[in-house]
Amino acid sequence: MAPLEELTEAWHEARRDRAFRHELAGLLETYCGRPTPISFAARLTKHLGGAGVYLKREDLCHTGAHKINNALGQCLLARRMGKARVIAETGAGQHGVAVATAAALLGLRCRVYMGTEDERRQALNVYRMKLLGAEVVGVEAGARTLKDAINESLRDWVTNVATTHYVLGSVLGPHPYPAMVREFQSVIGSEALLQIRKQHRSLPKLVVACVGGGSNAAGIFTAFVPYRQVELVGVEAGGRGTRLGEHAARFAGGEPGVLHGTRSYVLQDQDGLVAQTHSVSAGLDYPAVGPEHAWWHDTRRVAYVRVDDSEAVDAFHLLSELEGIVPALETAHAIAYVARVAPRMGSGQAILVSLSGRGDKDVAEVARLEGVTL
Ligand SMILES: *Cc1c(COP(=O)(O)O)cnc(C)c1O
Repeated sequence: MAPLEELTEAWHEARRDRAFRHELAGLLETYCGRPTPISFAARLTKHLGGAGVYLKREDLCHTGAHKINNALGQCLLARRMGKARVIAETGAGQHGVAVATAAALLGLRCRVYMGTEDERRQALNVYRMKLLGAEVVGVEAGARTLKDAINESLRDWVTNVATTHYVLGSVLGPHPYPAMVREFQSVIGSEALLQIRKQHRSLPKLVVACVGGGSNAAGIFTAFVPYRQVELVGVEAGGRGTRLGEHAARFAGGEPGVLHGTRSYVLQDQDGLVAQTHSVSAGLDYPAVGPEHAWWHDTRRVAYVRVDDSEAVDAFHLLSELEGIVPALETAHAIAYVARVAPRMGSGQAILVSLSGRGDKDVAEVARLEGVTL
């Protein structure tokens, strides 16, 4: 509890400090490239023949996804707390790369924990983190993926808390992480609310985002939650089937439970053992979901749906061919849902979708799935 209490206090002080907010906003603008635009997807809209589709372009952030918004915020906080070292967990490597980047920028030592199964699947990102000066430590425990990397990060943190801040990558884990990460990501929705009002001249009918831990979704939803007329939909990974172990749809197959210091919906067996998960996209492949999403689910403010691997891969192609944007496979889940519902909506209505990241990292995997040798 002591490290969490210290962090909570430091975070509350920092968010009230104008100098901290000013420095973060400055870096988001001059280093990350914010504000990111919203793009009207004219050819996709025409193809689907219904609601107008607007894309919030987090793929244009430095390092290629929304993860840098949080990594930069937490690394600034670490420096303010006098911690010279940061650690992070990573699954596909996107959060690890974002933290290694922010640590390089701010002169912090950085270690990233990664399951050895993920290291094998994402060799390019392992080397990328090393290029950025980070140390990457392989985790051999369990299924050797993200959940195991989080366990190892928590262990390191409690051992080295005097010198170290743990940069958690989504709206997960014990308080204050879910609230703090949401706040760092809420820049997505605050910008998008102003932009859609300007470009579409009214609120969107629907806002859609993919949900792994839930940070890009929380980031875009938060600004729209007070507007009851705006429908919010989170898209989970339906994987390759509805059986436990074949997907990562926590709201379809999960039960309340506690994982990594959070009570939320967790995929687990009858004895409460945390289940294996599967998704074509590593970023959605986690057995629990951010606790605020559980709240939004139970209060029915946000609806959660599932999109399976093959539908996501189709959407990956669709956006590439119609808009010249290769989306991350995570993001492709959100696009697939848009493709499902846009044709049933009126042409005067707008859908805003969080384009959480670009898909360069997934090109080789999709090629492999389709039997193309590179
Ligand atoms: C990590 C990642 C996600 C999933 O994480 P959330 O915390 O649910 O946002 C989604 N999209 C991209 C591009 C990612 O890199």
